[in-house]
Amino acid sequence: MQQPDPKEIMMLNRIVVFSVIVFFIIISAIYLLFVSGKTGQYSDFEDYIFGTYVRIRISSKVNPSTISKAIFAEMKRLEKKFDPYIESSIIYKLNHSEDWVEVDDETLSVIDLALKIARDTEGAFDPALGRLIQLWGFSKFTEREATGTFTLPSASEIAEAASNSGYQKIAIDYVNKKIKTNGAWIDLGGILKGYALKRAYQIAKEFDKSCHGFVETGGQIMILGPKYNKTNWVIGVRDPRGQPGENITIVYLSEGSVATSGDYERFFIVDNVRYHHILDPRTGYPSNKAISATVIANDPVIADAFSTAAFVLGEDRWLFTRTVFPKYGAEVLLVTPKKQLLRTDNFRIYEMSDR
Ligand code: ADP
Ligand code: MG
Repeated sequence: MQQPDPKEIMMLNRIVVFSVIVFFIIISAIYLLFVSGKTGQYSDFEDYIFGTYVRIRISSKVNPSTISKAIFAEMKRLEKKFDPYIESSIIYKLNHSEDWVEVDDETLSVIDLALKIARDTEGAFDPALGRLIQLWGFSKFTEREATGTFTLPSASEIAEAASNSGYQKIAIDYVNKKIKTNGAWIDLGGILKGYALKRAYQIAKEFDKSCHGFVETGGQIMILGPKYNKTNWVIGVRDPRGQPGENITIVYLSEGSVATSGDYERFFIVDNVRYHHILDPRTGYPSNKAISATVIANDPVIADAFSTAAFVLGEDRWLFTRTVFPKYGAEVLLVTPKKQLLRTDNFRIYEMSDR
């Protein structure tokens, strides 16, 4: 009998080991591509809500279209419920009633939170400027923009509307769940998108806790989870005087929210003066102490409302902003009228790439 050649046996062994390794590599690749890869693929959805485009980019083991539909439906519900100009809305009812109005729990908590932020920002964020916003024409902005019908309100009209505005006028009765506006008009335009993003996050996580991606409403992003579940999203902060796509900085985020308020989003120009949609509650005129304010915060409601507030406080009251805002979890980047960049201490951390 012929003895097997030990060299041949070694060779055969090597081939077997090699084949097993190759087999496992192929199986792992197939797994990564088709099984875990499913949550690495993003689906995009878009709808028009709150007078702006809402975009969802999501990866989930649950049907992404089902999640997106639920988010859009929720945002449309909020838009209708809190629009001050729809007669069936709770805000319309509150603004046109001289007496106490009974409200549901959600309305009470959103208005209560808005009033708290008004106090925390010394009134720079003010959810009761409805009369001024309407007077300036920003309530029907898209319509007026299309027809070019912007007129400047007179100083006396502004003074009159300002005297019937301000968050201090709003009273809450927590026991009987009632709110009274005392002549002021509530306008939640500076906080509603943030609240809608908070709801979007909650809905997405109820469907699938490990879903990831982001939801974006004009000027604000809420992150659902890190990119491909492992890396930061790279988010450009728009140059307020540049073309769309030109950035003043880039931030790297894997969670939380980033919101920018700027004078370039909704504005009209009369006699070379730019009049935009963020009003200084102290004067009743558009605030001109900043050209944009960006806030990063875990809570999208904070990011939204505090970016509006940081814009109003502007360069003159920067010391207040940089001292107080981080205590509420808001890190700020302010662009002053001369395009100087001012940052709270931790903002820089988000500007550092981890690669
Ligand atoms: P955008 O809606 O463009 O993202 P903001 O979040 O800064 O911008 O909100 C601006 C909206 O908030 C205005 O259109 C108006 O409805 C309302 N608003 C204007 N001035 C103030 C203010 N000082 N405080 C709170 N809300 C404001
Ligand atoms: Mg805002």
